[in-house]
Formats: sequence, structure tokens, C-alpha cells
Amino acid sequence: MSFSGFSLSSNMVNALTKLGYENPSPVQQVVIPKALRGTSLLAQSETGSGKTHSYLVPIIEKLDMNLNRPQAVIITPTRELSRQVFEFAREFQRFFPKLKVRLFTSEADVSQNEEGSTVAPQLIIGTPGRVKQLLVDKELFILNNVKTVVLDEADMLLDLGYFEDIEGLFASLREPQTMVFSATLKQNLKDELLKFVRSDFEFESDKVHTASTVKHHLINIKHIGESNALVQFLKLKNPYLCIVFCSTKDKVNEIHKALLDNNIDALYFSGSLDERSRKRALREIKANTHSIIVASDLLARGMDIPDVTDVVSVDLPNDLEFYHHRAGRTGRFGKSGDSWVFYNNDTEAKPRELYNSGVKFDFYSLRAGKLVDDPVGLAEKTKFRKKAEFSPEEIKEIKIAKAKTKKDKVEPMHKKKTQFAIEKVKRKYKRKAIQRSVRKQLENEAKAKRKARNGGDE
Ligand code: AMP
Repeated sequence: MSFSGFSLSSNMVNALTKLGYENPSPVQQVVIPKALRGTSLLAQSETGSGKTHSYLVPIIEKLDMNLNRPQAVIITPTRELSRQVFEFAREFQRFFPKLKVRLFTSEADVSQNEEGSTVAPQLIIGTPGRVKQLLVDKELFILNNVKTVVLDEADMLLDLGYFEDIEGLFASLREPQTMVFSATLKQNLKDELLKFVRSDFEFESDKVHTASTVKHHLINIKHIGESNALVQFLKLKNPYLCIVFCSTKDKVNEIHKALLDNNIDALYFSGSLDERSRKRALREIKANTHSIIVASDLLARGMDIPDVTDVVSVDLPNDLEFYHHRAGRTGRFGKSGDSWVFYNNDTEAKPRELYNSGVKFDFYSLRAGKLVDDPVGLAEKTKFRKKAEFSPEEIKEIKIAKAKTKKDKVEPMHKKKTQFAIEKVKRKYKRKAIQRSVRKQLENEAKAKRKARNGGDE
């Protein structure tokens, strides 16, 4: 299937070809024809699926370029995302010279946003508060011609409490076509949305959150510490472009400093950067000036950073949904990518939760600067066992081992020798327990696969 299969103008098809977009992605195949027909829709779309162009292409195609009035509004939850969409929209100006686009976010002052408002843009992109302030409160432009509204990353818009502003905007419009894009289409989100938007069509892409080209790996870093493990890992892998995610700003600071201390160049990105530094960092990210970026989850949502080969989570976020956003920074548009998660015995609860929710991890451990296969992985480990947990055979063997090492006369090292013999027996039984646990894990996986193949029936 190619873009010429849609009812798009030859100018648009030419623009897409020149921009390097040859074939529509799955979300584009579904959304573009519906959007061209004016259908309102809710679309669940995985990161890196091409969703931005699934709404930009039909919107630009349908704009009346001879009418200088707002005709479409695109709302995103952060100024960085808004800018990204804005830059994508501006790429079309080469092919549609009359296309006027404005970006309304806190990147600029309100007064700067108001400048030049005598000529209205056809397309407005921005964050909810600023868009409502300018379009509704300040009535900057006549809104009668707004025919389409997009809510991008709608679940984040809801989480950040932006729906009031959005409702305010909708109250000033005449039932526009609405296109809602969201990483998930949870019921509470739908309930909230359907209070003020219409939806004639719902699209759920693959239930798997992250692109299937991403491989997930768990690395047991034991007790060497996250910074130390990261330094070893980076020296070992030497990744082309790697984002290292940390769940708190303090940890971003700590990890970034540790890399610099070890002469590893890395870019810092978190919410604690001021506006100017944040913009500069984003520019450097786009220009691919650093091959390692240490970031908070601010960089996990929606941002399009091409060519990320590796994502490392030195720890996992409290909201595990964000793991999927992190991993989704790589493996974009069919490229392969790796997502690495550090853990140890004290922090294995979250990886286990992800694993149980269906993330197909493989297992490694970091030993003396090398990544080695870990056959045990998350299989249940019995660290401290109570007496009752010892099997009768094991107790018997321990008694034998004790008796064998018992001497009538106290010999040097005899206590150690006894202890060693007992430990040997315990290790043997532990190994057996682990093998049983691994077998059980494999059996469960095979069972789940069989179940999936049979459509849910065993
Ligand atoms: P998005 O899912 O909107 O964040 O887009 C992810 C990336 O895919 C962006 O870098 C787009 O430039 C790119 N992209 C969008 N549509 C296509 C397409 N049809 N073919 C190839 N790349 C695309």
C-alpha cells in the first residue's frame, strides 16, 4: 500500500515522497482515510507508530489555504511535544507555501504569541492552557472555521489535569471533528472524553505497548551499584545512541556525574533544567551530538529521537506504564532496539511485575565487567530457608555430612570443614530447587503460549 492509494492530492503525495515517507504505517492506513472523511475517532497508538502524520496529513490536505482563519487545532500535553509536531507541520510549508502554522506554548510569552495576529494561521499547535488563554479568553482569532481538533497523548492530558482547559476550548467551537490519540484507551479516559467529544470510530493498535522490534533484557547487577554497573555496561556495549533513564531527578544527577567522573561524555536532561538549557539540550539531542543521554521520564513520553539503539533503565519508575514509554524510545519505525533494565535481589519486585504482565525479558548478570547469561533470572530464589523448608532427604544428608567430619579430637579447622560439608549439601539442594523453579517457569510460559494459540482455551 502506498500514499497514492488514499484520496490525497498529487501535491501531498509528492510532499510525502520527498519527505521520505513511502508507505503508510498501520495507524496511518486506518486513520488517514477516516480523517479525510471527517470521522471523529479515538485511536490507541503505540509510540513510534507514525501517529503524528496520521493526523497531520489529512488536516493539511483539507485546509483551505486561501482562508486565513484557524481551521484545525492540535493540543499536546507538553511544550516539547507541541514543538515536535510544529516542526513536522512546518516541513510541509515547502510544498504548501500558503500554509501558516503557529505554536502556542509557554516557550514564548503571551505577548509574543499575540504578535502578528492580524494574519491568522490555518493550523494552531500548542499546550492546553496557552491555547485556551489565547483562543478563548483573549479571543485572538475568529474560531468559526475550526473544523478539526486533535488531542494528542490524551492519557497524559488527563493525568496532568488539563481537561478543564480543553473543555473550555470545545465550548467555543461548533462540534468539530475530534481525533484523540492515546497510549491507552482506559475506560476512565473514555468516560472523561466522551463528556465533550464525539467518537464515531475506535482504533486499537497492537495490545503490546512497545514496538515488537524492541528486545527486553534484565541485568542482575548484584551489589556493585547502579553507577558502577552502568560504567561497565557502557564500556562493554559502546552503544550508538543510548538513553539512560532514572526515576528521580536526584538519580539523574548522580548517574550523570558518575559518567563524567569516569570520562564518559553524556548529555543531561531532566525537569530541573531551566527553559533555556532544556531547549539547548533538546537541540543537541536532535543534532545527535552525544551518544549517551541521562534523562528523567520527562524524555520518555512521545519525544521522537531517531536512531536510539539502546535504552537503559538503571531503576524502574513507580508507574510501570512508563517502562513502555521508555522502551518505546528505541525500535522506532521497524528498526531494532534493546531495552536493558538493571536490578538486583532487593529491587526485583518491579521487574517481576513487568515480566508477569507479559514483557518478554531475557536474563543476564554483570560479572567482572562482562555480560553473562543468567539461567536463573527471576525464578524464585530461596535465600534464607526456615528449618521446616528443608526436605527430609536434605536433613538426612546434612546429618551424614556432620557425622563424617566429626572428629574425636579437636583438629585445626575442623569446625570449618564441617561447615563446608554442610554448605555443600545445602548448595546441592538449592541448585535442585532452582532447577525446579526454572522448569516450572518454562512450563508456565509454554502453557501461556499454548493458551494464546488456542484462543484462550487450553
Ligand atoms: P510518531 O509515532 O508520530 O512519533 O512518528 C515516529 C517517526 O516516524 C517520526 O520520525 C516520523 O518522521 C516517522 N514517520 C512517520 N510516518 C512515516 C512513514 N509513513 N514512513 C516512515 N517514517 C514515518
